[in-house]
Formats: sequence, structure tokens, C-alpha cells
Amino acid sequence: MMNLTLKILYQLRLYRIIKWYNQLRGRVPVLVFHRVASDTNSTSEPISVARFREIIDFLKSEYEIKPLSDLIENRGDLRKACFVTFDDATEDFYQNALPILIEKNVPFTQFVPTGVIDDIDPIWTYKLFSIWDSLDKETDVDVDGMSFRLKPSPNIQDVIGCVMKVREMPMQTRSSFLSQVESKVVIKHPIKHMTWEQLSECKKTGEIGSHSVSHPDLKYSDNVEDEIKYSRENLLRKGFKSNYFAYPFGSFDEEILALVSNHYVAGFTTEEKLFSLNKGFLKDHRYKIPRTTILDEKPSRYAFRIVGLLNYLARLVSRIG
Ligand SMILES: [Zn+2]
Repeated sequence: MMNLTLKILYQLRLYRIIKWYNQLRGRVPVLVFHRVASDTNSTSEPISVARFREIIDFLKSEYEIKPLSDLIENRGDLRKACFVTFDDATEDFYQNALPILIEKNVPFTQFVPTGVIDDIDPIWTYKLFSIWDSLDKETDVDVDGMSFRLKPSPNIQDVIGCVMKVREMPMQTRSSFLSQVESKVVIKHPIKHMTWEQLSECKKTGEIGSHSVSHPDLKYSDNVEDEIKYSRENLLRKGFKSNYFAYPFGSFDEEILALVSNHYVAGFTTEEKLFSLNKGFLKDHRYKIPRTTILDEKPSRYAFRIVGLLNYLARLVSRIG
């Protein structure tokens, strides 16, 4: 019912009315993409290459895509702007998304977890997702008194539930959890990250930001300041200036925010909201810039997600529910 309604509203181009209303109120979308690849059935939920191209064309026809530095420095008239960001620096971004961004001259920011660049071991969530994609039978794992049963082709609730538990584990426990599962399965399609050399090609139309070193949930990490500080230093050593930090999993508290503000000029969350230009330039909002996550969805859904309607409805439902 919801999808049919959206389809009709989309055909009437009603998302434009919401877009114009947002522009009037000074609310702009800051978008975050992750993987762009053909294995759209994967637990890591990449966007297909065709869909990515379609979304970029949509953004170019509806908005002025501007670099994040314009937003942070409040440069020019930003009311018609939107901003494109990527997290995690996966290799499929380099193979599939970067050529499109360069071809269409789209400014973007790639937020990089520096510890996985040039390395063979991916961010632990991607390792878990590729393990999941390779499972052909239920697999049990026990670690530190906790029991997990991983099922092949899990539903989204199973995945979120498991990731939430694993991200709260101390690093040692998490490693032992992952190596236990890894020993029980042959990973068919490991997810890789970019190399430093590939990253330097982002400079053609993009900027680089920091996304910690090892991509922990900073609320449960023992070395928060190192994760924040060394990410920037590693990038600097390789010739990348990084002024912005994206919190891994969008997770932060006031203490983490204060540490980020010692090293960066802005912090990005994954709170699914538009960014308000009016209050956004106050110092407290500069380190809590919300970003809308873009998924592989039909035009009738991504159009209404980008203008903020879908996330507004989701907030409303959760408030009522
Ligand atoms: Zn991330």
C-alpha cells in the first residue's frame, strides 16, 4: 500500500514540492553511500552500478551537488545544494562508483578507515557479512559465555541484532568471535578495501575524510583518541588532508564529540535527517551533521528518501509506536 502510494506520488513528481519546501526552510540533504557492486543480494546491501548511476543522474537534475567544504565553510548559496559522501573506502567504490563520479564531474567525500587501506583484512562488519554470504548451513559460535547461531540468508533483524552485540564486545572477544566463525566457513567473495594508490585517484573530483583507524564503535572502544587522531595523521602522511570525521556506525557521545573537535573541523553522523543551514553552523551542530543513508531502492523510494519524507515518516511511526 505504502509502495503503491509512493509510486503514484512519484509519478506526479510530488517529491519536488517537498524539495522546494526544504529549500525554502534551508534544509539540505547530505547523503551517505557505502558499497556499489553487483552482488546486491549480499548481506552488506550494496547498490547496483546501474542504480548508482540513476541516483547520481537524479541528484544532478534536482540539486546542485557541491563539495562538503562548501557546506562547512558556508560558501555561496547552499539552499539548492546536496552533498554526496561515501564511507568505508571499499574496492568496489573504486571499480564502480569512482568512474561515474569522474565522468559526471561530481564532487564527493570518501570517509576512510585508514587501518584497512592496503591491508588484506577488511572492516570486521564486512568480514562478518561475507562470512554470512558464504554460509550454507546454520553455524553456532560461543564466545565469552555468549551463544550465536548464524543462519544462511538472514533477515535484516537477525543481522542488526548480531552486529549490535558484536560491536559492543571488547576487541579481543570480537576477534575471537570472528576467527571462530571464519574457521567454519570458506569465504566465497571477500569484500576488499582500496589501496592508497587508488585513494589518490579520488582527488580528481573528491575530498578525503577520516573514518577512524579500525572502524570500532567508539562508545565501546578503549583507545578512542588514538582512533580519531591517528586516522588523520595516517592520511596526512600519505598526502591527504582530512578535516572531517565520520563516526563509525554513526555512534558518538559528548566525550567523543569533544575529542573529534580537537582534531577536525566537522563531524558526520548517520542520523537520518536533513541538515538545517539555519542552526547548523552553530558550533554544536558542526559535529553532529546528519546524513541520509542511500540504499538500492526504486526511484519512488529513493526520491522520497532524499527529500526526507521516508525518514520523517519512520520517525513519526516510531514515536507513535
Ligand atoms: Zn563505516
